[in-house]
Amino acid sequence: HSTDTLADDRNQRLFERAQALIPGGVNSPVRAFRAVGGTPRFIQRAQGAYLWDANGQRYIDYIGSWGPMILGHGHPAVVEAVQKAALEGFSFGAPTEREVELAEEILRLVPSMEMLRLVSSGTEAGMSAIRLARGATGRPKIVKFNGCYHGHADSLLVKAGSGLATFGHATSAGVPPEVVQHTLVLEYNDVAQLEEAFALHGSEIACVIMEPIAGNMNFVRASVPFMQRARELCTQHGALLVLDEVMTGFRVALGGAQSLYAQQIPGFAPDLTVLGKVIGGGMPLAAFGGPRAIMEQLAPLGPVYQAGTLSGNPVATACGLATLREVARPGFYERLGERTRSLVQGLEGAAREVGLPFCTDSQGGMFGFFLLPQLPQDYPQVLRTDGPRFNHLFHGLLGRGVYVAPALYEACFVSAAHTEEDIEATVAAAREVFAELVRS
Ligand code: PMP
Repeated sequence: HSTDTLADDRNQRLFERAQALIPGGVNSPVRAFRAVGGTPRFIQRAQGAYLWDANGQRYIDYIGSWGPMILGHGHPAVVEAVQKAALEGFSFGAPTEREVELAEEILRLVPSMEMLRLVSSGTEAGMSAIRLARGATGRPKIVKFNGCYHGHADSLLVKAGSGLATFGHATSAGVPPEVVQHTLVLEYNDVAQLEEAFALHGSEIACVIMEPIAGNMNFVRASVPFMQRARELCTQHGALLVLDEVMTGFRVALGGAQSLYAQQIPGFAPDLTVLGKVIGGGMPLAAFGGPRAIMEQLAPLGPVYQAGTLSGNPVATACGLATLREVARPGFYERLGERTRSLVQGLEGAAREVGLPFCTDSQGGMFGFFLLPQLPQDYPQVLRTDGPRFNHLFHGLLGRGVYVAPALYEACFVSAAHTEEDIEATVAAAREVFAELVRS
């Protein structure tokens, strides 16, 4: 890889400095390249679809900050909005007009939500939604699915895919068993298990939380029958259905994944929705929301406490609003979806040419690819991937200037800034690496 042959490798020097100061040299585990090996790229700047590392090496970026950068980096309208907001003040700890505007914009686009509250990370939003579900129902138990990640709050940090999976942990140290005793973990897309859980614990279940398209075990869709049955069981038993759309919200469609399920399941809507990533456009911003009667259980109106010094931050809300105004333009998701499909079809074609088992799925600007003959439906099936082969693919692409997620448990992202030339260059790079893979 280019960086390993440089006499003065600035990525490596920065990584050594960072490792002495920050655990693993990173502020979020998957950035460390632990699974794939090698030196993490320290990013110096980004523009459009590209990242440049500390050595000045350019990469076509399919991580997009793990989802938020749907317009690409440095979109002029977003930069202008952020600059203007920064001049007006960073944080007031008092309400602002922009929070109201952002709430109006999100609620207009996601009709299942009547009210929302803004927070600063997906973790906070998921954790708060769970507390609200428990507070509103007066019940203790939550159902989550193997391979779904909802942030690192204690009760949710069980079989949570993503970084935990990358490092081979079922759950985190530091979470006592009593803290997760009310968390039921079921297999994704398994209707029978869900029915059994409700048959056994129905009156104690506060909510079912799920990623509608799971992006923390690569890319696995909830089947329509599974989603439909989850909705029915929650309604029958008085539990809340919580859709974690931190990744899928404003990424797979303007109305999130829930808008796609609503097209196939008459009257479908979740009770609570969790959002993050795109709604902040790259700034720390997330939200959770739902029907008025449930949301009014939150402090200061109700007994469920939740708060934040930087919640609804004026610079972050400016960034999010400017981003949402761009994605709400007619045809945005159609164009983004076409670009993404053109990428995954190109990759599949290149793999087919050399007889490599390979499959992909995508929706809007989100995609997954697997070194498997067919798409997995749950986490154990994702695990059938050959890790060393994935690592070879990752480094082969990285060395050719294409930056995909450094772990096989992560979805990838295309932005509106990716051009057809970027897609072609990516497929050309993949063609070379695929040829290496079938020879090795
Ligand atoms: N939920 C989902 C579905 C996510 O993908 C993530 C982050 N990847 C989170 C929650 C947590 O968000 P954050 O990292 O902003 O805390």
